[in-house]
Amino acid sequence: MFADDSDVLIVGAGPAGAHLAYLLAQQGLQVTIIDKQAFPRAKVCGGGLSRKAMDLLGFELGDTMHQPISGAILTYGNRDTVLKEMPSMAACTVVRSEFDQMLLERARAQGVRFCAETAFIDATESADAVSVTTSRGVFRSRLLLAADGASSAVRNRLFGKDLVTYVPALEALVWPEDGALEEFGQRALFDFDGMPHGYGWIFPKRDHFNVGVYSPFGGTALRQHLDRFAAAYAGLQRPQRITYQGYVIPLSNRRREFQRGRVWLLGDAAGLAEALFGEGIYFALKTAVLAARAIAEDGLRADSSGYSRLLRRELLPELRAATWMARLVYRFPKLTFSHLVLNQRINQDFAGLISGEIGYRHCLYKTALGFPRWLMPSKAPV
Ligand SMILES: Cc1cc2nc3c(=O)[nH]c(=O)nc-3n(C[C@H](O)[C@H](O)[C@H](O)COP(=O)(O)OP(=O)(O)OC[C@H]3O[C@@H](n4cnc5c(N)ncnc54)[C@H](O)[C@@H]3O)c2cc1C
Repeated sequence: MFADDSDVLIVGAGPAGAHLAYLLAQQGLQVTIIDKQAFPRAKVCGGGLSRKAMDLLGFELGDTMHQPISGAILTYGNRDTVLKEMPSMAACTVVRSEFDQMLLERARAQGVRFCAETAFIDATESADAVSVTTSRGVFRSRLLLAADGASSAVRNRLFGKDLVTYVPALEALVWPEDGALEEFGQRALFDFDGMPHGYGWIFPKRDHFNVGVYSPFGGTALRQHLDRFAAAYAGLQRPQRITYQGYVIPLSNRRREFQRGRVWLLGDAAGLAEALFGEGIYFALKTAVLAARAIAEDGLRADSSGYSRLLRRELLPELRAATWMARLVYRFPKLTFSHLVLNQRINQDFAGLISGEIGYRHCLYKTALGFPRWLMPSKAPV
């Protein structure tokens, strides 16, 4: 056992933890980040990175970008289909082992110390510090910043196991027959018949597809839904190789509790993915930005409530609107598809949501305003 001191200890080196480490090191703080896994490590994720996430990072992804996404295929069971071309790159795809490794290396280049294969076990707070017991000894820091994902051990241990609600999602990595990726092009596909009260996605990577299903209402038999969804697409048949992996997406923080004394929750650990698409990377990065801003303003004090205040002001209203959008869109998916998705004005807004050109509150407001018009079939679907 050893005692190891730093200004802040970050648990979890996913996007939230690695980006926060980078931002805090830039402020001149001594930062240690621990992760229970060796890096690079695999992470279950579609790897869809929205334009707003890229803008937030603010640097070119280079080879880490697998495909730029400049169009969305919106469909219902591969029968009715709208192709929404987007004027500029609205999103891109990445593979999480590479993307997360890149963010971590960027933090390390700023002087962040990284301890791999070091799992959080417990923490106790004193007047001026927090002592963290890990699988590799004891760390002491002024703040403990938990970015340890949907099943956060820090959250479960220090905030209770019931704080966050989550739903399952399942994906298949499909290495298709030659030519299928080229034919699919630089598009992302969203199928509103892919999963009951949810959707199915197909995201192209450099050498494979990521194909998955998700519903904000939860659900069972995801493998059956995924197989039924994939069966509708010729390009996914006769794959050279296929693997399946599933995990959970945390959609809400029941008590809206994000910090207790010297311990703060970020990203999935805080329950802050969005409900409409299940997007979590942007929101994980955004929590890092807000936590770094709160620390810049208040310092490393135990009585600072700046982080929660920023979350309530800048993030939670958007996430609440996303939840309402999800209820609206997936409650009656067939109706939604014919009256919302085929409506050119509204599907334009959906595309704007992915790129970040418009926010969820704005989209919800415009959708609600247009309500009587949805009942009329759209004359110009595309
Ligand atoms: C099937 C699926 C598809 C998805 N697709 C997308 C998508 O296309 N686009 C998108 O934006 N979002 C997607 N998401 C959501 C996205 O993956 C998450 O929201 C995002 O990874 C959250 O980042 P994070 O940094 O908070 O946590 P994570 O990325 O989960 O990182 C947490 C880190 O903490 C570490 N850790 C865990 N426990 C401990 C411990 N006890 N001690 C030390 N370290 C620990 C883990 O090893 C991990 O490295 C998807 C999720 C799922 C399940």
